[in-house]
Amino acid sequence: MAEKQTITVAHGDGIGPEIMDATLKILEAAGAQLNYDKIAIGQDVYLKGVTSGIEEGAWDSLRKNKIFLKAPITTPQGGGFKSLNVTVRKSLGLFANVRPCKAFTPFVSSNFPNMDLVIVRENEEDLYAGIEHQQTEEVVQTLKLVSRPGIESIVRYAFEYARVNNRKKVTCMTKDNIMKHTDGLFHSVFDEVSKEYPNIEADHMIIDIGSAKLADNPEDFDVVVTLNLYGDIVSDIAAEVAGSVGLGGSANIGTDVAMFEAIHGSAPDIAGKNIANPSGLLNGAIMMLVHIGQTDVAEKIENAWLKTLEDGIHTGDVYQEDISVKKVGTQEFADAIIERL
Ligand code: NAD
Repeated sequence: MAEKQTITVAHGDGIGPEIMDATLKILEAAGAQLNYDKIAIGQDVYLKGVTSGIEEGAWDSLRKNKIFLKAPITTPQGGGFKSLNVTVRKSLGLFANVRPCKAFTPFVSSNFPNMDLVIVRENEEDLYAGIEHQQTEEVVQTLKLVSRPGIESIVRYAFEYARVNNRKKVTCMTKDNIMKHTDGLFHSVFDEVSKEYPNIEADHMIIDIGSAKLADNPEDFDVVVTLNLYGDIVSDIAAEVAGSVGLGGSANIGTDVAMFEAIHGSAPDIAGKNIANPSGLLNGAIMMLVHIGQTDVAEKIENAWLKTLEDGIHTGDVYQEDISVKKVGTQEFADAIIERL
């Protein structure tokens, strides 16, 4: 049996605590060899006056444990609060955001039963570099910043991901017809790196038509690599087209530390009602287990999760009268998975 590994866990805001409790219950029941170091992040921390939403002690936990399972958080509206997600990704060097978007037809309704793509999003640069200026009272400026080392890392990560996971094609999406320097560099580095992988097909699309094609025919895509902002948008489109944003998990990979989460946010509109789908965070946790080498447990959970969906036991967001058998709440859905482990 693997030695227990300590990971850092944050329950977050909104639906965060409910879906984290459900996820940890499943991990426990499946025999994941984990200890949890719990940290507070998000709204309560922001409202104490910590503008980053994360306290000093929490950084120590992250740097020590190196693996972070994080529920979504709510960033308070208004000036002065920094995005915790952006801060964590940049501070810990989590350069690659990996978001698999797969259809689970016929258990979850989707128009694209063979959809199975992965978005690899650059996670530290671009318009998220956080350099903004108030130039005059009426003019504000944000800098779009990309670097050759940053692009090389993310493009190489995408091709390595394709190689290791037997994927056939990597599609690069940019707007280099307009942003000739920034997006132009991304495209040309992609062309250079792709030559090192002659067995993997490489192509490029302009992001606007690329997004339209991805929404219209997602089965044609395999691995997609793109800049930070485009990746953020296109991965939400892809997750929704695959069935629901409530299903997708996400990995944020760095050379030293990695963070795993759901694609979606804290969904304050349904918080505290025990109706949220915990699958997004659970899929993030499955990616985490694979990352730390507990692949048997990951497979066991994934199979039980698929069987639960197959048996028609669905949370409200994916419930459909013609294919679902029973509508359940968050905790009941977790219990149904545990019964099938
Ligand atoms: P959201 O993803 O929280 O919700 C969008 C819609 O999807 C809502 O109608 C919600 O009810 C539904 N939904 C989301 N997750 C669901 C689930 N698991 N099960 C069922 N339905 C689900 O996006 P939003 O409303 O734009 O953002 C709410 C808050 O979340 C904001 O404060 C935002 O900053 C934050 N956010 C956090 C993260 C993160 O922590 N990684 C990511 C995105 C947004």
